[in-house]
Parts: sequence; structure tokens; C-alpha cells
Amino acid sequence: IYKWYRSGLNRWHGPGSTPDFQDIIEDRCYNYTQRIRPDSRSRNCQEIKQAFMSAFISKDPCKATKEDYRRLIDLADPTVPCNKRVLWSKTKELAREYAKLRGLVTLEDTLLGFLADRLHWCGEPGSPDLNTWSCPDWEKDCRTNYRSVFWEVLSERFAESACGTVQVLLNGSLENAFDEMSIFGRVEAPNLKPMVTLQVWLVHDPGKPPRDSCSGSSIKKLKSILSERNVRFICRDNLSRDLFLRSS
Ligand code: NAD
Repeated sequence: IYKWYRSGLNRWHGPGSTPDFQDIIEDRCYNYTQRIRPDSRSRNCQEIKQAFMSAFISKDPCKATKEDYRRLIDLADPTVPCNKRVLWSKTKELAREYAKLRGLVTLEDTLLGFLADRLHWCGEPGSPDLNTWSCPDWEKDCRTNYRSVFWEVLSERFAESACGTVQVLLNGSLENAFDEMSIFGRVEAPNLKPMVTLQVWLVHDPGKPPRDSCSGSSIKKLKSILSERNVRFICRDNLSRDLFLRSS
């Protein structure tokens, strides 16, 4: 019986839930609401943690819906300014550094983005515990897993409530800097509001020539998605990472 149980928990292809997930969520919540953004002090971290857990505990890890996260989202709606947002795709560390330098914010600067950053989580039907052996992988197991749906809901809301100029850092060292299948491509770009301006920065690894540019086919695709939505578009390319951080 033990062997069967174990192989059941071990059947997914993605990393298992992060050990001490609940404690990490709680610690991060207190850190964020009391130290990092004291203007969110009134948030109830116990309630937020409970809402996070009950979104996925005891449920089929491949049957996540946006609805499952509704209560959590309602408890922790972002309070970051709508006109200072930075999106990214394959440039996470650079985007975080850039945002910090310029007083801008990424999704990981909102309470829920901060709580879940770099963590993994999933449950198991009929069990009160997290599955620390394995969780579903987006490609190999199912797209509607709890982690993917979480980031999709959060990313969608972050993008659709943005205003003014939104910046996005794309990786100019890739052949296709704009990836239609990424969360930025599938969820964020198509949910920007009309009249928003999207400022695209194509940043490449220092010491190497860029592989994609503002006139390349992947960025053209992005431009066409945006023009259908009346989102204005500005693009700068040929920016080496070091130069970009220093000059921008
Ligand atoms: P990306 O391809 O660089 O992916 C970013 C991170 O999200 C990676 O850690 C990746 O493992 C994970 N990810 C991507 N697609 C996923 C999926 N379908 N299911 C689960 N995890 C997935 O860039 P992207 O996909 O364009 O996402 C970046 C944008 O979306 C950012 O603008 C950000 O606002 C938001 N986002 C943030 C995180 C995060 O881990 N902090 C995760 C997803 C999305």
C-alpha cells in the first residue's frame, strides 16, 4: 500500500511543493505587510494564508480554475501604482533590478506576487497535505495546474489594471524575444487597456551581438496584437544589459 501511495504522489513531472510552504507564506506576508509596505498593515496574514491553502488543498492538482483563487485575490488586491508597472519575459532578474533602480514595480512587488515568488505548491484529492513529491508540469502534465493558473490570474489583473506607460523588458539574446506562448505573450500583452503605452526594451547579454530587434518578426507580432487593442507601442533595441541599467 505504501508503494502505491508513494507512486501516486510521485506521478507528476514538475517539482513538488516547496517544503514549509505555509510557514514561508506566513513569514513573507508579515514581512511584506509590516516592513516592506507598511501601508498594507491592515491585511490579515492568517486569513490570507488560509485562503491560499484552501484554494488548492484536497483538490485535483490538474483542475485549477480562476474561481479557486477568487477569495485570495479579493483579500490581497494589489495596491501598487497603476502607472509604474514593469513586465518581463525571460528577463526576471534584470527587470527586478531595473524596477528597483527606477522606483517602478513588477508583479513580485505586489503582496501575492511577493508571497508566491519561486515557490511550488499542489495538493492531492482526499488529503489535507501538500504533495512535496511532485506537482504537475505545465507542458508534460496539465496546463490547468494550481501554480500556472495562479500566475495567470495575477498577471492578467496586473496587466489589465495598468495605466499610462507600461514597460516590458524582453530578452534580445533570444531569436524570438517576444514569445506568444509566454505569460507575457498570452496573458499580459492581450490584456493591456486601450490608450496604454507599452514601452518595449530589448536587452541583450553584454559582449554578445543581439539576436532579435524591434523590426524582427517576433516584435512585429507583438505590435499587431497591441494595435488591435489600441495600445500604443514604443520599442528600443540593441541595448546591452550593463548599458541599459546604467543609462536608463
Ligand atoms: P518567463 O517565460 O520568463 O517565465 C517566468 C516564470 O514563470 C518562470 O519562472 C517560469 O517557470 C514561470 N512560468 C512561465 N509560464 C508558466 C506557466 N504556464 N505555468 C507556470 N509557470 C510558468 O516569462 P513569462 O511566461 O512571460 O512570464 C513573465 C510575466 O508574467 C511577467 O511580466 C510577470 O508579471 C508574470 N509572471 C511572474 C512569475 C513569477 O514567477 N514571478 C511567474 C509567471 C508570470
